[in-house]
Amino acid sequence: MAAKPPAGMPSIARQASCALCGPDAGRVLVRAPRWRIVLADDADHPAFTRVIWNAHVAEMSDLDETDRRTLFDLVVRVESVQREILSPDKVNLASLGNQVPHLHWHVVPRWRDDRHFPNAVWGTARDDAQGQAAARSAAVLARRDEYVDALRRCFDEAARSAADTR
Ligand SMILES: [Zn+2]
Repeated sequence: MAAKPPAGMPSIARQASCALCGPDAGRVLVRAPRWRIVLADDADHPAFTRVIWNAHVAEMSDLDETDRRTLFDLVVRVESVQREILSPDKVNLASLGNQVPHLHWHVVPRWRDDRHFPNAVWGTARDDAQGQAAARSAAVLARRDEYVDALRRCFDEAARSAADTR
């Protein structure tokens, strides 16, 4: 197992200027000591979800093997709940951090008629003259409570389990 950087290293310390160290950065759906899952506030993509590692590290390889597995498992479980409840055409997983170098994953269910498909959600939006994208986001929004409930059911146990709260 890779050694964890010693406590007190600058990369681990809470960064006052970091957008993910202090603020929740979205509506918190599940909160555990080492991670949180938040709903991004995105009108075009109402189920856009983020899995945020609470400690200020930049890269997956900054985590030890156990934490890395935990984080990736969380991402995959969010994806699974999205597939089960929302039946998207595709799920986008992205960890960029170019603007906010604090480890987080975007988990975004996608549909062929959503506002940006087939581009990334940060890419060029399609012309929505037909109103298809608006109809799609409204349809996703209509199921969002169900999605949030399913996510919470899936993760409440994980948030409480010893493995995730050490
Ligand atoms: Zn941070």
